Amino acid sequence: MESVCKGFVGRIYTSFNPVRVVDGVLTCGGRVVFVGSSRDVEKLCNVLGCDLIDLKSYTALPGFIDSHIHLLDVGDVLNSLDLRGVRSVEELKRLLKEFSKSRSGWVIARGFDHELLSGRMLSRYDLDDAVPDKPVLAIRVCGHLGVLNSKALEVLRLSSGGNVDLSSGVVVEDLLDKVLEEIRYEMSLDEVEKLLIDAQNHVMRFGVTSIGLISTTASDKLLLALLSLQRREALKIRVRMYMSYRSLKSLGPTAKLLSGLSSEWLRVVGVKFFADGSLGARTALLSRPYSDDPSTNGVEVMSRVELAQALREVVGFGLQPAIHAIGDRALDNVLWAAEEVGLVGINSFRIEHASVVRDDQLGLITKLRPGISIQPHFILTDWWVVKRVGLERVRFVYRFKTLLNLNLVIGLSTDAPVEPVNPWETVYAAVTRGCSDSIELCRYTEDERLTLAEALHLYTTGSAELLRDEEVGSLGLGKLADIVVVDRDPFEISDPKELRNVSTVKVFVGTEEVY
Ligand SMILES: [Zn+2]
Repeated sequence: MESVCKGFVGRIYTSFNPVRVVDGVLTCGGRVVFVGSSRDVEKLCNVLGCDLIDLKSYTALPGFIDSHIHLLDVGDVLNSLDLRGVRSVEELKRLLKEFSKSRSGWVIARGFDHELLSGRMLSRYDLDDAVPDKPVLAIRVCGHLGVLNSKALEVLRLSSGGNVDLSSGVVVEDLLDKVLEEIRYEMSLDEVEKLLIDAQNHVMRFGVTSIGLISTTASDKLLLALLSLQRREALKIRVRMYMSYRSLKSLGPTAKLLSGLSSEWLRVVGVKFFADGSLGARTALLSRPYSDDPSTNGVEVMSRVELAQALREVVGFGLQPAIHAIGDRALDNVLWAAEEVGLVGINSFRIEHASVVRDDQLGLITKLRPGISIQPHFILTDWWVVKRVGLERVRFVYRFKTLLNLNLVIGLSTDAPVEPVNPWETVYAAVTRGCSDSIELCRYTEDERLTLAEALHLYTTGSAELLRDEEVGSLGLGKLADIVVVDRDPFEISDPKELRNVSTVKVFVGTEEVY
């Protein structure tokens, strides 16, 4: 039988601001009950009869907390065919045919690039050749275009025009999002649960022990699946959920009960909505036009008045608003709305991304004190960002250090599957800011790099605060015993590139060893 207590001896970081390292931690019943020397832990273990874990050359840290992740989409990606790098239509058909044999419902493939295939766009008939009897959706590498086969067009009953071309089966932009939502809507609860379990297993192996689960579609089914997993004791990481605004609307007054759904494993914390789009698609809302396309300054997804209304509503339900705002004009709108409804105070609402922040906005940010969720890995993915905003605005992009210096609650995250789940990739991006990868942004904004201690602090305590979870984020006395053991001491790494190679050895969440 497993013992109630576990003793850890060796190199253990219990927090990163200040950096605190000890050589003994004792956990009992899933909580930290003693922090001190290895000798004392050994003595206590002798009395209590606990499992003693000698870390030897390994290092233990508090579990990572990814404050903004799309868990269901991570599961989706793990369960779809990867077509990145495929170089012929014949090869694509062969892979699709093979993959479809293992699928009972929809067949989803991601990442094809028609420029690599033949230069011509894929069509429904290419997909029909490979899979005639099951619905297929193949999504282009950019994520903004998909191709449906004939069976899929039949199932979805799309009418022609707008963002769909029935003759080729091509769907684009928001219609593609709707198709994905429809597919998910058709999924059984069992299927949703399976995706969540796959995603959870994936996330856990990287030492992520808590997540801010951001739901942008059909949150009700997702919530139901999570509750079912919790009942079966199958939730192994701690889920802090942000519902989609649309789901909140559909719940009506029942939404008031959501904040009461609260356990150690699953909590509904907030509601996510959008003020704008993305820099990649030039839909992030900027105050002045894009430098590489003067015809647009982005898309206002919700107006100031609509934002204020949503903030009022969400707060009224006892939940935390989390607003996606990438461009500086979108940020203006969010800050205006928060001030309008009197939403002031540390972490009373969250801003997702805050990718472009002007100097003159820092004052109002300091006054309102929103929590902010940042994604350092965007720096590596958005290597073209200087072209989008131009040199005169480059200083305003991904201002992590500037925001940190405002003493706000800031959490780190990956926005996975947008960026890789591995926290060490994100830490690497935060610490190097792309300088080691010749990313142009770094040339102008090197001073916005975070130190390793800052990055790890934001990935643990910072994210915990952002998710309003006081029980995790450090290995202080009384905290939940969420511990990741890695193969080396990150503070002893001299070449930052090595940070990407730190690997997980073991992961403990509460009483359980989950990896
Ligand atoms: Zn996101």
